[in-house]
Amino acid sequence: MGKINILDKHVAELIAAGEVVERPSSVIKELVENSIDAGATAVTVEIKNGGVTFMRVADNGCGILREDIRPAFVRHATSKVRVEDDLDAIATLGFRGEALASVSSVSHLELITKAREEEVGTRYLIEGGEEISLNDAGCPDGTTFIIRDLFYNVPARMKFLKTDMAEGNAVSNVIDKIALSHPEIAITYIRDSKQALHTSGDGKLLSAIYAVYGREFANALIPVDYTLGGVRVSGYLSRPEKARPNRNMQNFFINNRFVISKTAMAAISEACKGSVMVGKFPSCVLNIELSYNAVDVNVHPTKLEVRFVNERPVFDAVYHAVKTALQNGEKRIEVTANKPQTRINPFELAQKVFRERDEQPVVPKAPLKKQPLKDNSDELLRLLDEPVETPKAQPQVLTVSDSAPTVADRYKEHIEAKRAEASAPAKPTDPAPAEPVNAEVSAPILPSEPQQPAEPAPLIETDDNSYRYIGEAFKTYIMIEKNPRELLLIDKHAAHERIIYEKLKKDKGSGYSQLLLTPITVTLNKIDYAAVMSEPEVFSQAGFDIDDFGSGTIIIRSAPQYLPLDEIESSVIEMAGYLSENKKEIRSEKMDWIYHNVSCRAAIKGGNVSTDEELIALAKQVEDEDVRHCPHGRPVCVVVKKREIERWFGRV
Ligand code: ADP
Ligand code: MG
Repeated sequence: MGKINILDKHVAELIAAGEVVERPSSVIKELVENSIDAGATAVTVEIKNGGVTFMRVADNGCGILREDIRPAFVRHATSKVRVEDDLDAIATLGFRGEALASVSSVSHLELITKAREEEVGTRYLIEGGEEISLNDAGCPDGTTFIIRDLFYNVPARMKFLKTDMAEGNAVSNVIDKIALSHPEIAITYIRDSKQALHTSGDGKLLSAIYAVYGREFANALIPVDYTLGGVRVSGYLSRPEKARPNRNMQNFFINNRFVISKTAMAAISEACKGSVMVGKFPSCVLNIELSYNAVDVNVHPTKLEVRFVNERPVFDAVYHAVKTALQNGEKRIEVTANKPQTRINPFELAQKVFRERDEQPVVPKAPLKKQPLKDNSDELLRLLDEPVETPKAQPQVLTVSDSAPTVADRYKEHIEAKRAEASAPAKPTDPAPAEPVNAEVSAPILPSEPQQPAEPAPLIETDDNSYRYIGEAFKTYIMIEKNPRELLLIDKHAAHERIIYEKLKKDKGSGYSQLLLTPITVTLNKIDYAAVMSEPEVFSQAGFDIDDFGSGTIIIRSAPQYLPLDEIESSVIEMAGYLSENKKEIRSEKMDWIYHNVSCRAAIKGGNVSTDEELIALAKQVEDEDVRHCPHGRPVCVVVKKREIERWFGRV
């Protein structure tokens, strides 16, 4: 007997379903895209348990005619493409007529729909690809899909699902991208009975950005709109000083579909040279519009990375769009009028708004169109500008261990040192009494008296050796004479970095944290945010006290000692990006990376001004603890033998 079997219809369906339906977020993506194609102006998405047990997508679009319902669930059935000429559109837009067939074969699916031209709606039930019932239903114009128990009949796929939290986060991420690419659609997203996002659908990209990423982010953007060679690039770019340590907040859309485009990323980086610090990346929400036949049709539609038939025009358009925007960017844009101070706690306000909203019934009872979704964002914007007392989230009392300086103190010191350096020669702290300028004083040709010998350089006492601190070369290398035989050159940054690293590692961050005078909030994309929230102890073990601040934002209340204020945010963003990319790594490896990151940022930098006391203390620690290499393996201390120096000068 031959070995080849024809798979039965059911098995074939399950295999095919796997290509389109991978996890709840892919179902949501397909369903919401269908709603958009149906001309909906309002879409509500609801999930429970990460979408695994329950997903609902309701729209006010054109609805499905009763006679079209059964065909819609047949594989390769689509109302959107008819002729072969449309094949390009199939490849680029994903009109393959597969989504409903796939989803219905691996779930319990309920469809409630009414086409405008029909009197009465329909309720259709289909389970594991088998029709259960088709009945009349009283319902508004539009379509609601309810998907329950995804993969109930495919245990192998079920096993590959991650935690409800992770699956839900993936859905949130999809919703964010759709909201950003369709500001003309009012999107409401409810996750486990809580409203997680609402966009007004006013057609303004800035409103959508505000809803997704929050006020602070939306307030620091530069508009972009530029057309070159048939490619239009429009949207927003973050101001250069708001650039972040990774590209995780760069959002690109091709013809309003979210994509990953290396070309666009490269073009932005190139355009930002000279405006943005090396190693930093501006955030952006950019839509690239071009004709469909310019996009590589070989790319699988559910894959995110796109290639262009010709990359050059896209690169050039993005490059010039960003360059021009940066030049025009001096004019600051604001979501709301520029008020001197925000005196309301946006977190509380958002909660209040959401709480009120949550009290509304979740399933719309009346037609979506007749009961338009209430837009709260204007209310939110207005309230945000109203003066109210101090935000509650900010700690009122600052408690710090008495010995250690606060980060703020260190920062102030650092700034003062910089200023002093800039106004060199150093002025005495106490202004000297003004003396009449006299010729003798101002123009001595030779010193009348021999110069007072300089104070002997301090000694560093150790057990059996004495060390003489000579000074600092190039604002980087501490010079120490060790006994009569050796000269030590210590790289102050490498030494400090190593010492901080060891301390963080030894004490697991405890005793290394300092309360911030004003907590810092950081907005992350949903994937990085989820990574942070799933491993908050990674942060506490590095000396950070972080907390959830809602909708993709975290609040930092304490940070490691010595970490300058302006490094805290980028350090956390970088750590979050690292965690989301290296989920599988074992904890000790993650911690090691994080200790590196923090110690490198917290250590005094070569080229910065340091006091002699600081340098002496550092040199002493290097000798006491026998520190020889920085955490990256570069040397901390180089020893030059006296004999070696004597040889240079031909003395021996
Ligand atoms: P495709 O989107 O590629 O056409 P789908 O399987 O996603 O394939 O959908 C099949 C058909 O079902 C669509 O072509 C459309 O006619 C109909 N349909 C699906 N969802 C909706 C909706 N929300 N509103 C109106 N029609 C829909
Ligand atoms: Mg579809």
